Amino acid sequence: MDAQRVIADLKELAARTSTPDGAQRLAWGPVWREAREWFRGRLEPLGLRIRTDSAGNNWITLPGKSARTVIVGSHLDSVPNGGWLDGALGVMAGLEVLRSHAGTTPPVTLTLVDWADEEGARFGRSLLGSSAAAGSLNVNEVRHLTDRQGVSLVDALAENGITLDRMTDAHRELKAIDARAYLELHIEQGPVLESMNKSTGVVLGTFGVERHMIRFAGQAAHSGSTPIAMRRDAFLAAAETALECRAIATRHSKPGAGVVCTVGVVNVEPKIVTAVPGVCEISLDQRALDPGVLAAMHRDARDAAERAARANNVTVEWRHLWRIEPRPFDSDLLRLCEEAVREETGEAPRLPSGPLHDAAEMVPHMPVVMMFAFSSNGLSHCKEEDTPLPHLEKTIRAYLRLVEKTIAHVAG
Ligand SMILES: [Zn+2]
Repeated sequence: MDAQRVIADLKELAARTSTPDGAQRLAWGPVWREAREWFRGRLEPLGLRIRTDSAGNNWITLPGKSARTVIVGSHLDSVPNGGWLDGALGVMAGLEVLRSHAGTTPPVTLTLVDWADEEGARFGRSLLGSSAAAGSLNVNEVRHLTDRQGVSLVDALAENGITLDRMTDAHRELKAIDARAYLELHIEQGPVLESMNKSTGVVLGTFGVERHMIRFAGQAAHSGSTPIAMRRDAFLAAAETALECRAIATRHSKPGAGVVCTVGVVNVEPKIVTAVPGVCEISLDQRALDPGVLAAMHRDARDAAERAARANNVTVEWRHLWRIEPRPFDSDLLRLCEEAVREETGEAPRLPSGPLHDAAEMVPHMPVVMMFAFSSNGLSHCKEEDTPLPHLEKTIRAYLRLVEKTIAHVAG
């Protein structure tokens, strides 16, 4: 197996589907379809054909001596002006797995999956194809979605031969596979491996998420005439809460088990330079791998908001936006992943994944593990996204090792 061939494929895909601003493989659009057509062409010389499931995910299978199946995969779609590795790295490494076994009958069945619309960049729903396959997609929650041009998701799917109401049939199709492992290689998209100067990381699982809006309501008043002690300043309550949420994240973080809290939205009213803010609404996104820690962080944030509200003589209300439980990966596969990374790089740093991935959707259905590649400057979803070549080569080799170890493990 050959890391150089993977890198050559990645470069060719980038050259075909990028502008000077980055990758343009937006799901369900023409450049994405072109990328998939190019990929189909890469499979033809291997005698391998693509099966598209009801959700638009592409599956390529090399039958083995046993129906027990090792699935490798990721996604070819990108955000607009995206990077050359996000998603594509896992798919091209999977292609190398098939290429190196093509023409043989491996001990177990090997399947590569290219998930449809992982990014959700056009319609705002991430993991669309993999959640359909996982049976966790509620089609009625996405039926009304439109893109910025006003095109509906339903029409964009139809343009690609997909019927929204049939998408969840992909779950039955997944269940028909005797899946024993799902392995996904992905760029880290954050600064942790770089900060340790490590090429490759063993991913422990994907963070659980608690996402809310917190609304503080006080009284708008004249900024010149209202003494500080008599104000009901909703913004100050929100600001104190935001600072306390940083402290909460720091307090609950342990080495190798970092957690995060983010206030990403601040809406203030009446938004006048001469008025004390009467209303302030902030978003709070909290993430942790340990469900107990996530619950404790959420309780702490509620307490902090109550205290800040009292201190500023305002009221506070919470509105739930979204929640997903943590998805820890399989212990046997984690052990194989550690071995593979250690053999290739000399050590095996472990880290959780803050972003969600298609792998998270597979966790309830089969043993799963992910491997991360070093991310230059921690950047992703932009044209600057990169992994320096020596780190990239090592990581691809470690991943190919993991696949071989998993094949042996599943074959028993
Ligand atoms: Zn991705």
